[in-house]
Amino acid sequence: MERTLIKDLGQKVGEKAFIQGSVSVRRDQGKMVFFDFRDRSGSVQGVVLPKSEAIETAKEVRSEYVVSAEGTVNKRPDKNVNLDVQNGDIELEVHSINILSKAEIPFELGSDVNLDTYLDHLPFTLRSEKSKNIFKIQATIAEAFREAMRGRDFIEFQTPSIVGGDAEGGAAAFKVDYYYDQKAFLATSPQLYKQMMAGVFERVFTVCKIFRGEKHATTRHLSEAVCMDFEMTFIKDHTDVMNMLEHVMKHIVAKVIEKHGDTLQNMGVEMLLVPEKFPVLKLREAQEILGVSQSEPDLEPEHERALWEWAKKEHNSDFVFVTHFPLSKRPFYTYEDEEDRGYTKYFDLLFRGLEINSGGQRVHDYRELVERIKGKGLDPEKFSFYLEAFKVGMPPHGGSSTGLERMTARLLDLHNVKEATLFPRDLNRIDSLLSTDEK
Ligand code: ATP
Ligand code: MG
Repeated sequence: MERTLIKDLGQKVGEKAFIQGSVSVRRDQGKMVFFDFRDRSGSVQGVVLPKSEAIETAKEVRSEYVVSAEGTVNKRPDKNVNLDVQNGDIELEVHSINILSKAEIPFELGSDVNLDTYLDHLPFTLRSEKSKNIFKIQATIAEAFREAMRGRDFIEFQTPSIVGGDAEGGAAAFKVDYYYDQKAFLATSPQLYKQMMAGVFERVFTVCKIFRGEKHATTRHLSEAVCMDFEMTFIKDHTDVMNMLEHVMKHIVAKVIEKHGDTLQNMGVEMLLVPEKFPVLKLREAQEILGVSQSEPDLEPEHERALWEWAKKEHNSDFVFVTHFPLSKRPFYTYEDEEDRGYTKYFDLLFRGLEINSGGQRVHDYRELVERIKGKGLDPEKFSFYLEAFKVGMPPHGGSSTGLERMTARLLDLHNVKEATLFPRDLNRIDSLLSTDEK
């Protein structure tokens, strides 16, 4: 018999059906055995009657056994109907059951365990409803990002992960043991390639891995993260980039609500506040609101959280842009505001109290860029490959980078970005127990 997905069983009342999946729970009630079966489409209650041929096997089955089962789809008696759950008005009266794989589980799936235990058992814990929902929603975020970009005529490109040098100066880059004693690193950002590609296609985006040797254990840093980057040319200034990013964010939020509205509600996620225009503050204005010194070059995590409170109260917004960070603390390609010397046409986008994106206008003039590289005490010769893109003519341009895990975590109110990362890498964790470790 052909497999029926569990979500479709309701259309087969009175008929026979064959399902495949896992057993979430087994309950013995007198001589009858009840199961909750689940597959990728949902779950259903099954019942094995004492006279059924399946009863012996049914008693053997434990939580998480992988089984196939054949039975008749019945309407539940009125008193047992539960309209709050999927398939709450039907049950499968099981005639035969076949164990495809036995299971030995460390604890019940979905148990409230601490983060370390959760991470130690990822091949198992990722199967819980909560985890599946997090990563389904994350897939929608990435898909909606791509959709928004393509809709605005951006072309997707693949950026290298192994690079010969580091855009940000080397401190956070992982060195790679590469061929022939060549110097190589894992990319900390697609930044320089993204700019070169903007020179080729005008509008580009990439969804890629970045690798950073973050030395401190925080709830927002991973050593391997996914970023959603774009770069666009012929801009008037950074505000064109901000407007594009705002469009992208609105599209992502709308898609997530459209596809996962019920899940968000079940997860207890607060309604997202997305105003027509996201509020914008210069760093110095933000510092004034927060009552912190304007000599600080950046915001601390607690300041970012406080700005969320401000944005909610004053603008009914979960998003807030902070612009004009001091030039001295930003990378060499950062564009200085001619009308606000010493400060940059750069921004961070904070979402629910956390930086999820940075971007801005870049320096596009070859000579100026060479000067800026020198100004940082770096040797322009070492950037000549990148600089060639500017030597051969580069339009005014800018772009931004969104951290996928951070965005997912804040959207779903997860405390630690690792909860929004399938297999997080950090100071202590790299899944060493899946290899022979021979070298
Ligand atoms: P932070 O100051 O919070 O360390 P950053 O300013 O160094 O972040 P950017 O270089 O601006 O980070 O990177 C762009 C985006 O990529 C960030 O806004 C963030 O969402 C994400 N990101 C950067 N580094 C990490 C990381 N180590 N782990 C997770 N996400 C990251
Ligand atoms: Mg940043």
